[in-house]
Amino acid sequence: MGVAILGNVTQKLTVGWLYPDLMNIYGDRGNILTLLKRAEWHGLEASVVELGRGASDRMNDVDVFFFGGGQDREQALIYDDLREFKQESLQRAVANGAQVLAVCGGYQLLGHYYQTADGERYDGIGLIDVRTEAGKKRFIGDVVVQTDIGLTPRTLVGFENHSGRTFLGSGAKALGRIIQGKGNNGSDKTEGCVQGGIIGTYLHGSLLPKNPHLADHLIAAALKRRGDGALSSLDDSAELAAHGWILQRAQRR
Ligand code: GLN
Repeated sequence: MGVAILGNVTQKLTVGWLYPDLMNIYGDRGNILTLLKRAEWHGLEASVVELGRGASDRMNDVDVFFFGGGQDREQALIYDDLREFKQESLQRAVANGAQVLAVCGGYQLLGHYYQTADGERYDGIGLIDVRTEAGKKRFIGDVVVQTDIGLTPRTLVGFENHSGRTFLGSGAKALGRIIQGKGNNGSDKTEGCVQGGIIGTYLHGSLLPKNPHLADHLIAAALKRRGDGALSSLDDSAELAAHGWILQRAQRR
């Protein structure tokens, strides 16, 4: 069991859940449960702050933000709120080393804009240098990604369901290379993006239960920015067995 006691004070981890009522599809809630449970297994005092529409004075307390996916309709309902009530605090938190995991619709709105297949443009907050325009055909299916951000194993597995085609600008680098599936846009073989402490990805599923190494990457980075102790390892044999089974299934296809 991991121990994260600094001196005689139990370290805390606060997860900020952006728009839990609207941006939470294809099992994305599982990412919150995984972050909280793994933090607890590491000996941290874990809590979640729900950040729905409107102003919040809690965003400075957050160590790891999660921004889930949503259909065009839900994105239309929140993109103004994101700019008006969340952008400044999120920019400040990220500048202070908070980590962000954004999936699909959340990923798209952290970029410059998301444009629907009907030409509706939802302005993003430009925290990451990406832009997204929807195509006519949805990308739906299992995804396997080979990352190069220091994860062990290097692979991530998940499920995608999006019409958006995301293209990275020079300020963002890809989270990884597509081994199976479509990823960012179905053409340049990239998936997701990494920019500072922000990870954007199209991987639903939910992502973190079958990718515990990514969950701990986020938790460890959040603790490190506070100068808190490093995480010790957990027994991830069950999680990595699920991860490996999906890799084998992909190789059989
Ligand atoms: N509505 C966006 C799209 O279709 C995002 C979908 C999602 O979050 N799964 O690309």
